Amino acid sequence: MTRELCREDSYLKSCEAKITALTDDGIVTDQSVFYPLGGGQLGDTGWLVTTDGQRLDITDTRKNRESDTHYHVIDTPAALAVGDTVTLELDWQRRYRFMRFHSCLHMLCSLIEAPVTSGSIQVDRARLDFDLKDPIDKEPITQALNELVKRDVPMSMRWITDAELDAQPELVRTMSVQPPRNAQGTIRLVDFAGVDLQPCGGTHVASTAEIGPVRVQKIEKKGKQNRRIIVVFEE
Ligand SMILES: [Zn+2]
Repeated sequence: MTRELCREDSYLKSCEAKITALTDDGIVTDQSVFYPLGGGQLGDTGWLVTTDGQRLDITDTRKNRESDTHYHVIDTPAALAVGDTVTLELDWQRRYRFMRFHSCLHMLCSLIEAPVTSGSIQVDRARLDFDLKDPIDKEPITQALNELVKRDVPMSMRWITDAELDAQPELVRTMSVQPPRNAQGTIRLVDFAGVDLQPCGGTHVASTAEIGPVRVQKIEKKGKQNRRIIVVFEE
């Protein structure tokens, strides 16, 4: 099992870790600040630094859900061994954009009264698809999102049990992504105070002012009953 430090504190930019396995898929460590691909958010990239100063590019992070381990993908061969202590350093600029976009999608979710069918977060844009028949306008959504950013809504996290979540199915907004349950039978609730509350395993900013100004770039009709809302940073 890899201890997921990024779920405890998404602002951690690096950590020491011990290599627990070397596989064809990547390097497994006992703990990591790297977020693994999932829930529509890309896997983190960055560097693995050895004690003798080698700096290896980590080009992706994946998770093996069965063993609860993180794989750090390294494309260049390197002399590493199980038991080695290494430093894992995030490409923080890239990750921070994901945190801002991801939090922005929570705000978007709070504004639209429809089930979410899918979502995706890229470096330069993020989107949510809603099961929504009626057309909607970009401008009022852009305005409402920026109002929530300006209000600087604080985010907090708490853990509930799977049974508690099953008793409140209305908390789950995304039809296509099941909330990330873990081996301990607990699940993390992400609460943007009074605005959005849902189980989520992604990385978020501490309060919405950090998202910065945003703009709905496009709303596309995808299929009979699906609206795709694409958001970009206004920079
Ligand atoms: Zn989230």
